[in-house]
Amino acid sequence: MAVPKSKITRSRRGQRRSHDSLVAGNPAECPNCGELKRPHHVCGACGQYDDREVVAQADEIDLDGEDAA
Ligand SMILES: [Zn+2]
Repeated sequence: MAVPKSKITRSRRGQRRSHDSLVAGNPAECPNCGELKRPHHVCGACGQYDDREVVAQADEIDLDGEDAA
C-alpha cells in the first residue's frame, strides 16, 4: 500500500534499507593465472576458460602488423 513519503520516518526507512546491500559473489581462483574470477565465467585477466583461451587478450593483437614478419 502506498504511503506518503513524509509519513515514513528516517528510522523506518533505514530499517527497510538495512536489507538492500549487495553481497559479493563466490570468487574462484583462475587455474591459469591465479586471478580471482567468477565461477563458470571466462577469466577477465587471461581470457581462459576450461583450459583454453576463448577471449584474445589486447596485448596479443597486432593491428598494424609492423612487427610481424
Ligand atoms: Zn586467468
